Amino acid sequence: MVREIVLFGDPVLREKCRPVTEITDAITALAADMVETMEAADGVGLAAPQIGEDIQLAVVDVSDAEEPMTFFRVNGEPASLTDWMPLKFINPSLAFPSRDKASMKEGCLSFPEVRAEIRRPDVVHATVTLLDGRTITIETDGLFSRALQHETDHLNGILFIDRASPAVKLTLKRKIQKMWDEYAR
Ligand code: ZN
Repeated sequence: MVREIVLFGDPVLREKCRPVTEITDAITALAADMVETMEAADGVGLAAPQIGEDIQLAVVDVSDAEEPMTFFRVNGEPASLTDWMPLKFINPSLAFPSRDKASMKEGCLSFPEVRAEIRRPDVVHATVTLLDGRTITIETDGLFSRALQHETDHLNGILFIDRASPAVKLTLKRKIQKMWDEYAR
């Protein structure tokens, strides 16, 4: 089922989400709905708070991107996107092994009209639990790394605009204010 996506202004997007302690049928069904919702909206990721649920659950699918990453390893072994997408995960924790950063235009399904240049660490080591209970570590870079970072931020109440440089924030100010006013109405 495609769910309604929560837009900026809704306080749920600022919640620090609760860890998932048990993978129930309800969690599995919610994750399936999130994949459908992400696909319908043509997104590369979606976090539970974006459909109004304050739990640490997110989905990512970068398999349609032209160059989603330059490498992808699961538990240290080379892995293929076709085996892992769409990725549904709970309780992520991220580590950044390098200081190298990358800049990329980023969007968010909760901000339909906003795109902004955001700098983030390029390589990520993401430890996530899958819905079958396995905990794995993903090592990757590029768009895949960015999507994992963006969705994990959502689960901590952090939005991509928070990561924009002061200069970029200034250019976004009117659009953000407009969204805020629209939500308040
Ligand atoms: Zn987002």
